[in-house]
Amino acid sequence: MDRTSVEEDHVETDPRRRTPRTDAVLSDERLRKAADRLGEHVVKQTVRATLERCRAGELAPEDVVGAAVDALPPAATSLRRVVNATGIVVHTNLGRAPLSDAAVEALGVAAGATDVELDLATGRRGRRGRSALGALAAAVPEAGGVHVVNNGAAALALVTCVLAGRGGTVVVARGELVEIGDGFRIPELLESVGAVLREVGTTNRVRLADYEAAVAEDPDGTAFVLKVHPSNFVVSGFTSSVPVEELATLGPPVVVDTGSGLLRPHPRLPDEPSAAAALRAGADLVTASGDKLLGGPQCGLMLGRADLVESLRRHPFARAVRVDKLTLAALEATLVGPLPPVVAALEATPAELALRAQQLADQLGDLGLDPPPEAVPSVAAVGGGGAPGVELPSAALVLPARLAGPLRDDPCVPVVGRVERGRLLLDLIAVQESDEADVLAAVRRAAR
Ligand SMILES: *Cc1c(COP(=O)(O)O)cnc(C)c1O
Repeated sequence: MDRTSVEEDHVETDPRRRTPRTDAVLSDERLRKAADRLGEHVVKQTVRATLERCRAGELAPEDVVGAAVDALPPAATSLRRVVNATGIVVHTNLGRAPLSDAAVEALGVAAGATDVELDLATGRRGRRGRSALGALAAAVPEAGGVHVVNNGAAALALVTCVLAGRGGTVVVARGELVEIGDGFRIPELLESVGAVLREVGTTNRVRLADYEAAVAEDPDGTAFVLKVHPSNFVVSGFTSSVPVEELATLGPPVVVDTGSGLLRPHPRLPDEPSAAAALRAGADLVTASGDKLLGGPQCGLMLGRADLVESLRRHPFARAVRVDKLTLAALEATLVGPLPPVVAALEATPAELALRAQQLADQLGDLGLDPPPEAVPSVAAVGGGGAPGVELPSAALVLPARLAGPLRDDPCVPVVGRVERGRLLLDLIAVQESDEADVLAAVRRAAR
């Protein structure tokens, strides 16, 4: 065969040669509009990835523009909206608490210029976040003062820095030296801001006498007594801990890290400490996260004695953990608005959830899946550092396990379930009804 004709033939069919130029694709009207909205960089990246598929022969050159338009992300963030069908209400890897619609709307309002630190009536500087702080104070009248920082760890670090920062002693039970997650540990956090730990008791038991002895050893050096809620594990059997009421008799201030952020006791979570109960029991300060059981944005709450809260607020370190206007807006909306999704999930009844699961199963009956979709009772968990060991009765849609991967990697709305005994369960406790259409569509795509 003649060598030249082989090469000419090759030129015509080789997709690498026929791949359009990046500039030519980018000049398409739809992609130019997208660049105005998403930014040049995001659009270029999408176009490059699409051209790569064309070069690999997966895509015809004439289809490149259409495919690039389809592949554009919905927003200029690569974070994706995900449906949490894991049955873990506050899922750390899925961003903990989903915000309520009211909180999302508040984010939009606060996103631009806003009066977060300006009193519009007088034109003078206003107290930063006064309305969010006012809403928090109103929700927990037991607190003389309230303050908000970046997250729960920042709240505890600020309290420790202010009360025990220069070598002050923090008395804490050995059974409460908690690792929060991702390798971060409360004792190391306390030491990192200059406190000295005085551990009391054993892993499973501690008595008031242990605390008394530790405080008596160093009455002037004891900065505070800390009680940490073991929020992500349960110790059962031969155990004892000392309630806040008794710690309050010791003398030094009592700080309670409740973790999960319940402001008031919740009937479905009888063993979960709340800020109001801890303060009533005599705690001087309570710290908590905003994005666990409170159901709000990531933030750290501090509630308690007005003089202590004021000293926290005025300390230089407070500025380093200052909360932003978006958080303040979302926190206020969470506190004064309709029930956030986390709280709604805690209140959903198994019967309602079972009905929703059955309706989803019925709507997927035509897919010919083997085994066919069905509704089953399920056991959900609070997760995310709250109410460990509590079982929440729920319901799930059961699908073949082979759909787990495709659903999680869905191009439109990823759905994350859990595989249990060879089946995929989509637990509905944390799936909002408004997400159900997306779940159905994703299952149809995954089943194809
Ligand atoms: C979650 C938790 C923290 C840490 O709070 P972040 O908001 O994650 O920083 C601290 N203490 C306890 C008891 C917790 O449960």
